[in-house]
Amino acid sequence: MRLSRYFLPVLKETPSEAQIVSHRYMLRAGMIKQASAGIYSWLPLGFKVLRKIEDIVHQEQARAGHIAMLMPTLQSADLWRESGRYDDYGAEMLRMSDRHGRDMLYGPTNEELITDIFRSHVGSYKDLPLTLYHVQWKFRDEIRPRFGVMRGREFLMKDGYNFDLTKEDALHAYNRHLVSYLRTYERMGLQAIPMRADSGPIGGDDTHEFLVLAETGESEVFYDSQITDLKFGDREIDFDSHEQCQAVLEEFTSRYARTDETHDETLFNQIPEERRRTARGIEVGQIFYFGTKYSEPMGATVQDSDGNKVPVHMGSHGIGVSRLLGAIIEASHDDKGIIWPEGVTPFHAGIVNLKQGDAEADAACEALYASLTALGLEPLYDDRNERAGGKFATMDLIGLPWRITVGPRGLKNGVVELTSRRTGESEELAPEQAVERIA
Ligand code: ATP
Ligand code: MG
Ligand code: MG
Ligand code: MG
Repeated sequence: MRLSRYFLPVLKETPSEAQIVSHRYMLRAGMIKQASAGIYSWLPLGFKVLRKIEDIVHQEQARAGHIAMLMPTLQSADLWRESGRYDDYGAEMLRMSDRHGRDMLYGPTNEELITDIFRSHVGSYKDLPLTLYHVQWKFRDEIRPRFGVMRGREFLMKDGYNFDLTKEDALHAYNRHLVSYLRTYERMGLQAIPMRADSGPIGGDDTHEFLVLAETGESEVFYDSQITDLKFGDREIDFDSHEQCQAVLEEFTSRYARTDETHDETLFNQIPEERRRTARGIEVGQIFYFGTKYSEPMGATVQDSDGNKVPVHMGSHGIGVSRLLGAIIEASHDDKGIIWPEGVTPFHAGIVNLKQGDAEADAACEALYASLTALGLEPLYDDRNERAGGKFATMDLIGLPWRITVGPRGLKNGVVELTSRRTGESEELAPEQAVERIA
């Protein structure tokens, strides 16, 4: 992409309404624009990162054997009356009626809708296990939408639902989600710690939240510092193996890690004092096992091998896809701007032409652009006729991992400058070497 043809409405002023750094940088970098309270338009740069995050989510769901689909945003109130949640859900649910006076709602979550799909099409234990998911916009009329995309009213969520014959199988599905989430967040450059949590309006007895530690997090968390040494890495996991998934769950959940909702001071005090940590965290996902809470009232049953009709055991599993942009920026930035982890960066490298219009500099930039593109990488070429300082400030703000600076002086010696956004270190290299380093 050439910056002269892109749409990157960078703000010079720090927007006064933004209280936390991720919100400020997302506005300043022209990633989002508020449409109304807690509702945002995703401008091209923000949309690109959103897509990258969504792609990682899809890839890791596929790896775990979960099946993608898409359910609508608008739902009929009738299903929610069946489950009993239409009245329970309260003011967070946006309710409306259509021209025939039928009660509708903008889905805050999808347990009812997916259970209805399941009961219409599945009748035998032979069709289980089954896990379906989608990545779709949700609406929750939050009392205090704030912090930009972190607590929006309209937000993008991955929500998945497992259907199993037995509790044991459903707990395996739970473990499978925990394992796949660990890898999902790590690929985004995040450490998201599974913590024992409270189930809230979804209901159920088993649940973990995934929290990214950050001062601006809305949850208070308590944990054993040893937990932050754990890395999932690129282990090969057989997602069908109950033992393997269970082992990962035990490894990642055996140390004390809880949110304020489930915090237990007595248990916490059993950890050696130097390992006790109190901090703040951002909830980027949650997994639930809730048994037959929805299948029973809604009649989602299958025939077991003895021919008996039994309600299926279910769970639901969410990732805050749009909130993740904020969480990643909170975890990775400096005073000049965002520092994107490689896995989610909107472009792989920025090319800064110090002397636009200089035949040699222009040609060198074009050649770099072509070589990076040929390698399947996406460069962003700042080909505007602007002074170097402004170009550098924009590149720092939007946080691409690499910047290649090209100017007539360096080119005389056959070199360009390659700068790492994370370390700030620069090196003079031949253009081909710079490309090699980025690839
Ligand atoms: P919170 O405690 O922050 O209100 P929640 O527990 O109500 O979140 P869940 O029902 O667990 O949310 O939804 C799954 C995920 O969706 C959450 O872990 C979070 O990452 C994301 N999410 C929830 N509410 C919002 C929101 N208002 N804006 C952006 N993301 C959200
Ligand atoms: Mg909530
Ligand atoms: Mg919560
Ligand atoms: Mg939650």
